[in-house]
Amino acid sequence: MIYSNHPIALDVASYCYKNLALAGNYVVDAKRLDADGYCYEDGLIEVNESLQSPDFEIAICHEMIHAKQYENGYTCEKEAYENEYILFQQYLEDYR
Ligand SMILES: [Zn+2]
Repeated sequence: MIYSNHPIALDVASYCYKNLALAGNYVVDAKRLDADGYCYEDGLIEVNESLQSPDFEIAICHEMIHAKQYENGYTCEKEAYENEYILFQQYLEDYR
């Protein structure tokens, strides 16, 4: 289940949740941040609300990949960067 304070973040994160077959509960919080985003092991995801589209959406894809990694017991920054744009493109194609 995904909860968010931001409608676009909710839309993108919900897509990623299905695409990545996530199982846990996640809160995606769009807020002022000193980075593009953070993903915590307890399911909290923060994304920088000042990012413009498509950087905002891609940042969510990036953090959702980290969420999947946490569910599988590891973290890998390289994998998240390599797959964030692919996931974002799939989001665009499926929602067009
Ligand atoms: Zn990362």
